[in-house]
Amino acid sequence: MYTCSEKRMEDKITTFSKFGDTGHGGITRYSLSKEARQARAEFQKRMEAIGCTVVTDDMANMYATLPGTDPDSPAIMSGSHLDSVLQGGNYDGVLGVMSAMEALETIATEKIPHKHPMTAVVWTNEEGSRFEPAMMSSGVITGKFDKAAMLASVAKDTGDVTFGEALDASGYKGSEANRVDPKKTCGLVELHIEQGPILYAEGFDIGIVEGVCGMINYEITFKGQADHAGTTPMPYRKDALWACAKTLEYLHTECDKLDKKLVYTTGKLYCHPNIHTIIPDEVKLTIDARHQDPAVVAQVVDIIKAIPAVVEKCEVSYQEAWSRKTVEYYKEYVDDVEKSAILLGYKAKRMYSGPGHDAQFLCDIIPTTMIFVPSIDGHSHCEQEKSSVEACYKGANVLLSTLLEIDKK
Ligand SMILES: [Zn+2]
Repeated sequence: MYTCSEKRMEDKITTFSKFGDTGHGGITRYSLSKEARQARAEFQKRMEAIGCTVVTDDMANMYATLPGTDPDSPAIMSGSHLDSVLQGGNYDGVLGVMSAMEALETIATEKIPHKHPMTAVVWTNEEGSRFEPAMMSSGVITGKFDKAAMLASVAKDTGDVTFGEALDASGYKGSEANRVDPKKTCGLVELHIEQGPILYAEGFDIGIVEGVCGMINYEITFKGQADHAGTTPMPYRKDALWACAKTLEYLHTECDKLDKKLVYTTGKLYCHPNIHTIIPDEVKLTIDARHQDPAVVAQVVDIIKAIPAVVEKCEVSYQEAWSRKTVEYYKEYVDDVEKSAILLGYKAKRMYSGPGHDAQFLCDIIPTTMIFVPSIDGHSHCEQEKSSVEACYKGANVLLSTLLEIDKK
């Protein structure tokens, strides 16, 4: 059985962690920034060194292709993103790119016979940290997002440049003809860190990702009456924040009765006028709920719809902000990941992804699956984000083996 080089993998992790190094263990590497362009140049240099042809499409997605013995057979792809959140870690996204590179480097240096072309891919602007939304470029090429609207997206930090302008200036804008072609691609495997605590806590080496959890996001609004905090006796009040607190407790109590894999979060709260001497007259909360089974997600919606129209004398209304259906990955390739992990002697667990990934968009046009690697203590989107070199190496081995398994088909 073929395996990757742990030493070469470690060297990549060390090298890529310099591009956008914050000085305290993490990186800030916004898409198309100077730091992201350094990481892209490193990707290109290393892939060309093993005989890959590197092209970019009109959204600056990069494709490095190692030819196979049958030039007419469709390509097998793997990759992820090189951009990060503000003060993010050295593994989210980039580990998927480095693992794809490692698999191709192993195939090239060990001269492993393979029929299909093998392509390592970098998707542009997955995080949406500077230019919203997240998963922008995979979304454009799979028809999820309108390209013109994406090009008009304005930088959140400085407000003086659009994504389209940054793209033009990046030097990585290529031709639309280079976009991934479903007719010429037979599979995509994205390796990613889990970004949660399950694999690490339970002692697993590999997550076999069956799909991406469906989710809903609702905004609930409470309308009360603003009055003086010192003069209004309690029975006379219409306190929108108190109505919100009561409703939040109701939501937790009811959602906790559902399947234990359900996760739900109120991460955003708006309180008006947000002044300590005034009773709040308008409060909004968001509730984000995720589960692999659409029936459980539907039960959460029922719970939301059962909120009384009036709570603590305040009017309550709700609306769906957005939602996402459960994505099921390509079963045959999911099984290939499992088979590879077993053959390598790794402890693996089948699971669904809570976060979104580029792979879930590509899944609509090409057979796709994912591999998860444990995140130490589950930390992600922070500088503490870490996966051991050994864990990354094991992930790369499973990826290599899966790509070779797909190659046999
Ligand atoms: Zn990511």
